[in-house]
Amino acid sequence: MMDIIHLLSDNIANQIAAGEVVQRPASVVKELLENAIDAKSSMVKLIIKDSGKTLVQVIDNGVGMSVTDCRMSFERHATSKISTSEDLFAIRTMGFRGEALASIAAVAQVEVRTRREEDELGTSLSIEGSEFKGQEPVSTPVGTNLMVKNLFYNVPARRKFLKTNPVEMKHILDEFQRVALAHPEVGFEVYHNDIELYKLPEAKLAKRIVDVFGKNYRQQLAACEENTSYVNISGYVGKPEAAKKTRGDQYFFINHRFIKSPYLHHAITGAFEGTIPDGHHPFYVLNIEIDPSHVDINIHPQKTEIKFDDEKAVYSILRSAVRQAIGVYNLTPSIDFES
Ligand code: ADP
Ligand code: MG
Repeated sequence: MMDIIHLLSDNIANQIAAGEVVQRPASVVKELLENAIDAKSSMVKLIIKDSGKTLVQVIDNGVGMSVTDCRMSFERHATSKISTSEDLFAIRTMGFRGEALASIAAVAQVEVRTRREEDELGTSLSIEGSEFKGQEPVSTPVGTNLMVKNLFYNVPARRKFLKTNPVEMKHILDEFQRVALAHPEVGFEVYHNDIELYKLPEAKLAKRIVDVFGKNYRQQLAACEENTSYVNISGYVGKPEAAKKTRGDQYFFINHRFIKSPYLHHAITGAFEGTIPDGHHPFYVLNIEIDPSHVDINIHPQKTEIKFDDEKAVYSILRSAVRQAIGVYNLTPSIDFES
């Protein structure tokens, strides 16, 4: 009998790996925005066409890439963010797997222009379905301008699974809002089919919340702050009277990374017990700063799940911080929305 096992071509391997990272246009938005943040950008522009089905473009003013790094950035497991396994427990960046660009380039047509401050000329590279198309010098501003066109053009089966434009756009805006709330220190602009959807100046968190959700949030925020040797909690919760019947907007970040944690969500909503009617949901935007050695963020490809070494401690600190915030908000100084 003949042997039957063979290695998959890079092309197919990349396409399979891409399925983990890229489910829909919103996944591309998330990865590109996170790369822009990791590149220390202060201003990020997101341009969308047809709910991301024909174009997702992110333009940042971050550190940019060298000619070689630009080429390398599309290799699988190629990253500037970690190098040893110890680094996995000291992660301060959004990315670290080195998979996003390789995955995106496996299932789309990608063009990037990038320049570092120290380089006079930048570099422009294109890659389609993992196939390198060319790279040449280009004059371009400092930072990175990355275009992802026609997502899943080469995987019709996946393209077929995309939802209607409004649904895909909703996913994109959800991802955008998470990043915008996690990084108020970064300015953002968002355009969809040439219409401006957001223009958010860099700001403090309270102003960012109002800029994202609207002026009526001004009167509804209670500051939440708690510093312990294990974690530092900061952010805002909605005052109890602002709780809504519809599941409110609830954002929980760990070291500025959006996390889904039913357990910690329960700590927060539980703190509202007795202050809001049954079936109402409080608003919150909370960030926990914790030494990365106490968390494992490497348990989920989208990195939206996380493990703490002492989850119970986080639960009780969080709960007490929120209780204090809603108990004493009348006494706290008014929030400065101007800066
Ligand atoms: P990861 O973010 O996990 O490192 P990516 O595939 O998203 O993996 O990116 C690969 C590498 O390309 C990054 O480590 C970074 O060095 C570089 N890179 C990606 N996007 C940008 C950007 N917007 N600005 C500067 N460098 C970038
Ligand atoms: Mg990345």
